[in-house]
Amino acid sequence: MDICFITPEAFPFAKTGGLADVAGALPKALAEIGQKCTIFLPLYQGIKARSINLSFDLELGAYRETAQVYQVQNLINTYFIRNDSLFNRKGLYGTERGDYPDNLERFTFFTKATLEVMKRLALKFDIIHLHDWQAALVAAYLRAHPNNFYNKTVFTIHNLGYQGIFPKEKFRLLNLPQEYYSINGIEYYDKINLLKGGLIYSDFLTTVSPTYAQEIQTSEFGFGLDGILKERCNNLKGILNGIDTGIWNPKNDKLIYYNYLQPRDKKINKIQLKTELKLDESNKPLIGLVSRLADQKGIDLFCDAFKTIIAQGFQIAILGIGEEKYHKLLQAMAKHYPADVSLNLRFDEQLAHRIYSGADFFLMPSRYEPCGLGQMIALTYATVPVVRKTGGLADSVFEFNPNTNEGNGFIFEEYKA
Ligand code: ADP
Repeated sequence: MDICFITPEAFPFAKTGGLADVAGALPKALAEIGQKCTIFLPLYQGIKARSINLSFDLELGAYRETAQVYQVQNLINTYFIRNDSLFNRKGLYGTERGDYPDNLERFTFFTKATLEVMKRLALKFDIIHLHDWQAALVAAYLRAHPNNFYNKTVFTIHNLGYQGIFPKEKFRLLNLPQEYYSINGIEYYDKINLLKGGLIYSDFLTTVSPTYAQEIQTSEFGFGLDGILKERCNNLKGILNGIDTGIWNPKNDKLIYYNYLQPRDKKINKIQLKTELKLDESNKPLIGLVSRLADQKGIDLFCDAFKTIIAQGFQIAILGIGEEKYHKLLQAMAKHYPADVSLNLRFDEQLAHRIYSGADFFLMPSRYEPCGLGQMIALTYATVPVVRKTGGLADSVFEFNPNTNEGNGFIFEEYKA
C-alpha cells in the first residue's frame, strides 16, 4: 500500500514526545515489510531539507500565506511545508509559558498545504493516516471536497487530552462550509474542536493501546468525547505502539557510555551516569524519570512521594521539561538532596538514552497514559519499569512474580503516593 502520514512531529526531525518516536518508527517498520510511506511535516526551525521548487499561496480566511515545499528522501520520503513566520520558532507548539496563540492558523495552514502538495504533485495514496489534532482538519477537508487521490483516512489518537480547541470566531480561517461548525462537526461547547473533527470525518480510528481504546469510551478518560468514541466503536481499534530498536538498543546505541548484551553489564553505565550527574558514589539503587512535566504524567504523585523515596535509600535522575509549576516544585525539592537527586529541566536526547541505560528502575506514575514509550524503552535497556496500571502501561508492564519469575516490572493501581 501507499500510505501517507500527516503528523506534527516525527523523529529525527522534530520531537516533543512519543508521537515523534512512533511517527518515525512506524513508517520505517511498514517500509521494511514492503509498504510505501510518505510523511508530511511542517518545516520547523533547525530542520535541514532541500527545496523542491514548489510554492503556492493558500487561503487562511481572508488572508493568503505562501507555502514552500522541501523534501528529505531516504528510506522514507518526507515532505516539509515551509512558512517561516508560522514555523520558524523555538518550540513546536509553544514555550514554557504556554501554547502559541496562532496554533489554529499554523496547523490549518499545514493541513491545507499537505493536500495542495498531493494535488500539484499528483500523489495518490491508499491510506491517509492522520496523527492528533494538528492533522485532523485533513479529514474535514477531504469530506468537504472529495477527490480521488486517496482511498481511506485513518485518524490516530495519540493523546485525547490535547484536542486543539479554539474560539469559534476563528472558524472562518478554516474556509470550511458553515455546516461543519455544528454539533455533528467540529463545534464543541461553542468552540472549535479539531480533534473532534478528526473523530467524525475520518473513515477509521485507532489509538495507541487496547486498554486506552476502552478507557477513552468512558467519562473518566474520555475528555468529553467518550460519547462520539462510543458511537464509533466499531471503527475504533487500539493497537499497541512499539519502539524502533534500531535507535533504542543497548547493543549499539552510540549515545550511551558502554554497549551491553547482558543486564549485568549495564552497571558501568550507571557509574558513568552518576559521575556525569554529580550524584554520590554510593551503591544506592538509581531511579530514572524521563518525562514531559505535565499533570498527565503523575508528577504531583511523584512530588508527594519524593522525600520517602530518598529516605528509603534511592537516588533519582530526572530529565523533563514542561509546566512551570513542576519546574519550580522539583527545583525546590531537589536542592535539598544534591548528593542523591539530579534534576535536568530540559529536552536532551543523549541524556535520555543515558538514563534509560544507567538507571536500575524507571518510574512512570502516570495519571493516564495512552501508550507510553518510556517503559518500553526502559525494558529494552534492562531497566525495571515501575508504573501505574493505566492505558498502555497496563498492556506492556506485568507485575513481577518472584515465585514464578514471570512479569517484567512493578505496578500500582491507586493514584496515591
Ligand atoms: P509522551 O508522548 O506522552 O510524552 P511517551 O512515553 O509516549 O510520552 O514518549 C516520550 C518520549 O519522549 C520518549 O522517547 C522519551 O524518552 C522522550 N522524552 C520525554 N521527555 C524528554 C526530555 N526532557 N528529553 C529527552 N527526551 C524526552
